[in-house]
Amino acid sequence: MTEATYDTDNIFAKILRGEIPSHRVYEDEAIVAFMDVMPQGPGHTLVVPKAPSRNLLDADPATFGPLFTVVQKVARAVKQGFGADGVTVMQFNEPASGQTVYHLHVHVIPRFDGIPLKPHAGGMEKPEVLAESADKIRAALRS
Ligand code: 5GP
Repeated sequence: MTEATYDTDNIFAKILRGEIPSHRVYEDEAIVAFMDVMPQGPGHTLVVPKAPSRNLLDADPATFGPLFTVVQKVARAVKQGFGADGVTVMQFNEPASGQTVYHLHVHVIPRFDGIPLKPHAGGMEKPEVLAESADKIRAALRS
């Protein structure tokens, strides 16, 4: 079996290079977080390391400390910003798992009692709704 390799032109690499716009809520030297354009619920955020890897399987383990430190920050912020009851954190590896963008990322989704997630990579959200969600998360990250 041939191992798939990292494609430097994947959509998140383009977002990281600023070639494609995104609603960014957080950035440091190693990690960026921005709104998912096809959210599975309000406030669905993606936490993305700048270091290139397809997914968790080929990532440098040194990535995971900084990555999950930011996942926790964003999880707390979405819970506070959206008044959520809980937070789902998900991460997919290769097509069989449901991965559709081949640059390591972690999904952080606020959850509300009794409300199921929408389908993965379903419909596009309106830019103004994403902008409003990003404002809420940035405000919670500042507090
Ligand atoms: P995966 O299936 O690889 O775990 O998740 C990829 C996620 O990226 C999906 O939830 C999908 O909605 C989101 N996505 C796909 N294209 C774009 C894009 O151009 N911008 C943003 N912000 N999210 C995207």
